[in-house]
Amino acid sequence: MLYALCDFSEDWMDLQEIGEFGLINRIRKWTSTSNPALLKGIGDDVAVIETGKKVWLVTTDLLIEDIHFDLTWVDPFHLGRKALFVNLSDIAAMGGTPKYFLISLGIPKNLSLSFLSSFYRGLKDGTKRFGVDLIGGDTSVSRKIIINICLLGEGKRGALLFRSGAGVGDDLFVSGTLGDAALGLKILRKNGLHAKPIGLIQKHLSPSPRIQLGQVLARNHWATAMIDVSDGLLIDTNHLLEESGVGARIWEDRIPLSKLYQKWIHSFSKSPYPFALSGGEDYELLFTAPPKMRKRIAHLALSLQIPITPFGEIVPKKEGLYLIRKDGKKYSPSRLGFEHFKRR
Ligand code: ADP
Ligand code: MG
Repeated sequence: MLYALCDFSEDWMDLQEIGEFGLINRIRKWTSTSNPALLKGIGDDVAVIETGKKVWLVTTDLLIEDIHFDLTWVDPFHLGRKALFVNLSDIAAMGGTPKYFLISLGIPKNLSLSFLSSFYRGLKDGTKRFGVDLIGGDTSVSRKIIINICLLGEGKRGALLFRSGAGVGDDLFVSGTLGDAALGLKILRKNGLHAKPIGLIQKHLSPSPRIQLGQVLARNHWATAMIDVSDGLLIDTNHLLEESGVGARIWEDRIPLSKLYQKWIHSFSKSPYPFALSGGEDYELLFTAPPKMRKRIAHLALSLQIPITPFGEIVPKKEGLYLIRKDGKKYSPSRLGFEHFKRR
């Protein structure tokens, strides 16, 4: 009886209470399937479908004008390229190889042809860089620009990394530096199109998916779990922890920050950390690996010339997710990162 009441009361909850991820968890329950060819369905960066020895990786992302991008700050060339790159980043997070994609567009009727040709030039630039092919899509008129890409990639069974798989005692690593893209956007909004520094603004306009890094980690079995950081370091760490059934401690002062970020963040915030921890749009790889892999990962960072920083450790689930300040004080974060629908 009590259970029946609970289910009934759920119908009255609104999206602001449960947020985007609460909704996705419910969709997962409503639509659960037991197809043996589906190695991963809802709940990871991409879906994984087995066909013989090969596995197909499938991912999709939606970009909506004034929600995900603002045409005041992004030109069509960069918009086209970024639309592809955010999908490539999800394939990178599995250690896969991106192959083919479809793009569907909602287009306002007064949008110029030159906007669209420039958008497709950006897209083409991205396809050349990563060897992927556009194979189709769909087009419709709409009030705002809507961009949906569905990307197909391939991988080998046993040589992929999932969000599940992290074990207690594993180190937590992240590639690159954090917060640059979010700070770049803040600077653009405050100071306009001719704002400096270009380095941070470039990170916002032109993320670089870490395809090669993801592949090396997955093929060599050096990592145990992986996700890309799209919504913010803490919220994406939390997704990995939930799927792996573990907790984590993070040392705040080990969060990798670029020199430019450290120079400019002070105009916006006293502490550099909150923004780097939950800013979003970093498109870096977050992964876990047992301590015996530390040397190999340090060598990999040198050979790929990508910073890879250990910044935390996996702990039992009951300890949850917490941070440790420089002075040794522990705290639980009050906000994890960006989530659609959620009341701020
Ligand atoms: P990412 O940030 O890596 O793109 P998301 O947080 O958007 O991942 O999605 C998490 C999981 O939920 C993925 O498996 C995705 O395919 C799935 N998902 C998201 N939205 C929906 C939806 N409306 N219906 C079904 N599955 C969804
Ligand atoms: Mg992802």
